[in-house]
Amino acid sequence: MKVRVDSEICQGHGICHMTAPDLFLLKDEDGYAYVEREDVPAGQEDLAQLGADSCPEQAIIIY
Ligand code: SF4
Repeated sequence: MKVRVDSEICQGHGICHMTAPDLFLLKDEDGYAYVEREDVPAGQEDLAQLGADSCPEQAIIIY
């Protein structure tokens, strides 16, 4: 499973980070979300999906 944040859509609410802080990080400069690695670590697939579901902008893509 892979995950990424579409930076064109992200509005920086930070809900993804509150849901899955180890997967979704927020940039210091603008508060927008990013992932360090697109490969979701084994066992964190549900958390990645939860983070994606939590995004009100649907900016998180699971593929
Ligand atoms: S919840 Fe969505 S819009 Fe908000 S910071 Fe995370 S990816 Fe961006």
